[in-house]
Amino acid sequence: MIQPPNTNASLAQRDLAVLWHPCTQMKDHEQIPMIPIKSGQGVWLEDFDGNRYLDAISSWWVNLFGHANPVINAALKDQLDTLEHVIFAGFSHESGIKLAEKLVEITPAGLGRCFFADNGSAAVEVALKMSFHYWRNCGQSQKTKFITLENSYHGETLGALAVGNVALYKETYAPLLMEVITVPGPDCYFREAGESWAAYSSRRFALLEAVLQQQADSVCAVIVEPLVQCAGGMRMYDAVYLSLLRKACDRYGVHLIADEIAVGFGRTGTLFACEQAGISPDFLCLSKGLTGGYLPLSAVLTTDTIYQAFYADYTKLSAFLHSHSYTGNALACRAALATIGIFQQENIISQNQRLIALLAKLSVRFESHPHIAEVRQTGMILAIELVKDKATREPFAWQERRGLKVYQFALTQGVLLRPLGNVIYFMPPVVITAAELEWLAEVAWQGINHAVKN
Ligand code: PMP
Repeated sequence: MIQPPNTNASLAQRDLAVLWHPCTQMKDHEQIPMIPIKSGQGVWLEDFDGNRYLDAISSWWVNLFGHANPVINAALKDQLDTLEHVIFAGFSHESGIKLAEKLVEITPAGLGRCFFADNGSAAVEVALKMSFHYWRNCGQSQKTKFITLENSYHGETLGALAVGNVALYKETYAPLLMEVITVPGPDCYFREAGESWAAYSSRRFALLEAVLQQQADSVCAVIVEPLVQCAGGMRMYDAVYLSLLRKACDRYGVHLIADEIAVGFGRTGTLFACEQAGISPDFLCLSKGLTGGYLPLSAVLTTDTIYQAFYADYTKLSAFLHSHSYTGNALACRAALATIGIFQQENIISQNQRLIALLAKLSVRFESHPHIAEVRQTGMILAIELVKDKATREPFAWQERRGLKVYQFALTQGVLLRPLGNVIYFMPPVVITAAELEWLAEVAWQGINHAVKN
């Protein structure tokens, strides 16, 4: 019997009968259609009814060089015919070795060792465990705590969730989570009128330093998202905070973990956000853009000093016995190599400056809007903060779900925006054209006007 062709409706019905989607109240789909995607090309996604959507959020911040990128596709096809995967303990492979060499070469100086995991949260777990274990191997087992910033986000597994600070994701699971030291953050949304980002960020750093002064003896590491707290509403701060933090971590004998899972690979205008502060962390967590948005892979880069503290005769029992089955997956490593190749061959970071300038130009229009409290930009990330009252910055009640209205409106126009609460943001693939970016800003403008009505 000939099957009828798939449609959005037929696939959505089957989907909702068996699937449980991430970060979703599934009951919402009684009203909001599930959109099955048939294919992707560049910045565009196409559903089974032939509608097209511009992927303005890079499919959860992973995609860099477009869907179905011919260069990454070719590399993957070649890898597929050679080696798809092999156990990464006792065995290795060329793509994994080349990728580690590349990452050591392109990340901030001093990071000479690369440990692979398979998603962002796992990379955070690795960095936390490595830091704790390093101190223990060095005879400092009183160091058991982590310092985290208000409004930070580092993933959903229990360790990563514990060092995060977004109540919406964390609160329910509080009884399961290790205790951490949470310090006031540098988020420049809260700076005084007329105060610069740098002045505010420096001022806020003093609050973290005070905690280090008192508690460094029991602290393994400070973990931060450099420059942009993404899941916390694309809140931003000045690079001076990172420079001060690096110096303080050295002074107080505490590691610095830079979680560049979201901001790495060019999103902030430099290849890595840490570059803007001229610093190297003790641990650098990478994922998302690492494979150009193709396959799950993460990496934790660290220093030779840390590596050496684990390097000993087996009977010392000081090894890092952490593993994930898909660690160093060959296909994912090859996609990452192709992605980094594009960065280098096409000089993407300098090419991007044009788009970053255009984004800045397009943002101006939003500033005077009566329901927009702030428009902020770091590199390729632009965020627009919707509020009920511009003067007092009183937010819209969360129950009104204004951001969701922008999402739904944008979909009718052919744009995938997925606001974080009432923060509308763009984090498009690098291959977006100037004309597409202008059109995206126009759709967002209309969507915001639609969403703030009454
Ligand atoms: N850290 C940061 C800064 C992130 O933005 C995310 C994901 N949004 C993660 C960690 C977790 O990555 P994953 O979703 O791959 O577990």
